[in-house]
Amino acid sequence: MKFIFADTMDYVDPGFDFEGDRNAPGRQAYWDDEYPHEHMDTPPYDGMLVSRAAVGKGRLGGGKYSEAQAMAFRRAGARAFLRLDGPRFRHMPVFGDCGAFAYVKESTPPYTPEDMLAFYEDGEFTHGCSVDHIIFEFHEDDDPARFPSAMARDEARRRFDLTLANAETFLRASRPMEGRFTPLGVVQGWSPVSMAKAARDLCRMGYRYLAVGGTVPLRTPQVKACLRAVRDAIPHDAAMHVLGFAKAEDIQEFVPFGITSFDTTSPLRRAFKDARCNYYLRRPGTGLDYYTALRVPQATENPKLQRLAKEGKVRQEDLQRLERRALESLRAYGRGEAGLDEALDAVMAYDEPGLLRRATHPADGDPALRNRYRRTLTERPWERCACRVCRELGIEALVFRGSNRNKRRGIHNLAVFKTLVNDLPGPEEGTRPDEQADLFRHPRQSEPAAPGPLLRG
Ligand SMILES: [Zn+2]
Repeated sequence: MKFIFADTMDYVDPGFDFEGDRNAPGRQAYWDDEYPHEHMDTPPYDGMLVSRAAVGKGRLGGGKYSEAQAMAFRRAGARAFLRLDGPRFRHMPVFGDCGAFAYVKESTPPYTPEDMLAFYEDGEFTHGCSVDHIIFEFHEDDDPARFPSAMARDEARRRFDLTLANAETFLRASRPMEGRFTPLGVVQGWSPVSMAKAARDLCRMGYRYLAVGGTVPLRTPQVKACLRAVRDAIPHDAAMHVLGFAKAEDIQEFVPFGITSFDTTSPLRRAFKDARCNYYLRRPGTGLDYYTALRVPQATENPKLQRLAKEGKVRQEDLQRLERRALESLRAYGRGEAGLDEALDAVMAYDEPGLLRRATHPADGDPALRNRYRRTLTERPWERCACRVCRELGIEALVFRGSNRNKRRGIHNLAVFKTLVNDLPGPEEGTRPDEQADLFRHPRQSEPAAPGPLLRG
């Protein structure tokens, strides 16, 4: 199974000063920063995926790229923009999709199949998804009475037909790119049965690589039912990608479904979005262990703390004193020069929810949080990982604070997650992994890369 990292402009400043909490002097965002594959000794994923909606500046505008970045992306192409054009990374595929969640409320997708092909061709993508439209409804069986109204049913059917019609045009129009580009037909449906039908239709059109979409809001058993239905409906040698795979951490449970590849950002995001699972380690055998990162927000930049200070509930200089003491105690604990309770007390004294609560009624912090922090500090997980992040940062990798620590912790998570994917057993008997692997690896990837255009300037 191949792990594709869905790009959302996640990079870190290699010259960041952690003591002073400052970027390197003169650092320019993106240009001087490093993507996870550049930052780590080995790339923490097998390839990358770019959603066109994230690049933005289409009919709907939006996107995460600045005007200059979008222009550089168009000029240089996806591979050079993502800095996957060097000899270390040239073998890695670049996947593309439309980013259908961005236009879910529109009546039709903002791109035609021909538009998307031009986007993939110009960007030197190796793999690209057909133009899909997300279906709102999901029902476990195919009883039409499950729909809340005839209108909802008709809308689901309209989006289903539109996605298939787009796929047919997309495949036909992609023929001239054969040999340097692999088209993926996107499966959308409102039930496992309808998704199986879409998958069968796509294979009949000539697709050999399908991408299953719309699974993000589904619960694990529902995702499994969909993947089982699709896998059973398509030939053994057809490859299957799962778009926006939100259940990535449970990937072992999905081995029986014969997934060729999937894309996700989850291990990176959870480093700073999850309430407790922020830092990953491998559990002996299969699976992952999670640690809670220690929150030490920036006193002068955290909006909630700033509000407390403005309301006069806490003094600005007290916040800064607590912040400094938390950081210093953690660093001392990391060096073995402070005790566990000293570090724990210092972090808890500066715990943001605790400060907010204490501002109204005095209490001594959250005992569950204190226990999670105690486990993190006692087990010293940063000393059990040899990746660049943990080597260079030590205990700072476990400090929840600002983008440079949080994203580095996310990059560490990607690398840990990649080892989990690498260790998964092969597909079950009956599927033909070698042919699927051929679809994953693409001729263009083994060609010598053309000299990359100069990005800067
Ligand atoms: Zn690490």
